[in-house]
Amino acid sequence: MRDKYKRLYAEANRIIGDKTPLKKDCGQICGGECCKGDSETGMLLFPFEESAFTVKEKDGVRLCVCEGSCNRYERPLSCRIFPFFPYVNAEGKIKVIPDIRGVNVCPLVSNFNDVRFDRGFLYRVKKVGRLLYADEACRKFLEETSREIDILIALTEL
Ligand code: SF4
Ligand code: SF4
Repeated sequence: MRDKYKRLYAEANRIIGDKTPLKKDCGQICGGECCKGDSETGMLLFPFEESAFTVKEKDGVRLCVCEGSCNRYERPLSCRIFPFFPYVNAEGKIKVIPDIRGVNVCPLVSNFNDVRFDRGFLYRVKKVGRLLYADEACRKFLEETSREIDILIALTEL
């Protein structure tokens, strides 16, 4: 089990490679807001991704403890695809969307319509979504998270 997921995330990380949301370093624009962690914060982990990280539970979800710096080559998948998420719609199709959960942190989410994202990055996040969707536990996670995102989007539209 552990080896299976190690291989799965190694493949997901390989797909993302060194691609980032913009063709330039977005951290220089915002001062690296998403990496200003402390022992109280963390990045959400994908199923069975925890084997490689210091993990804590908060409100029933597993987070990788983020101290505000890390080895870039070992960062969790959530960090590699942030601020996007491979959203699964009601028909089971994967669509890469800006992750509304990051709206208070990331200016790329709040200014989504005005930003020119690297299409290669978006393509790779989609490819990772498809890869994870083929795994039962990851599919469940993607679907559940997508439904949470639906609720948050609906709340912003009230
Ligand atoms: S908060 Fe958004 S813009 Fe800033 S470094 Fe993180 S992903 Fe880039
Ligand atoms: S784990 Fe690393 S990449 Fe992820 S938020 Fe923390 S410092 Fe940033």
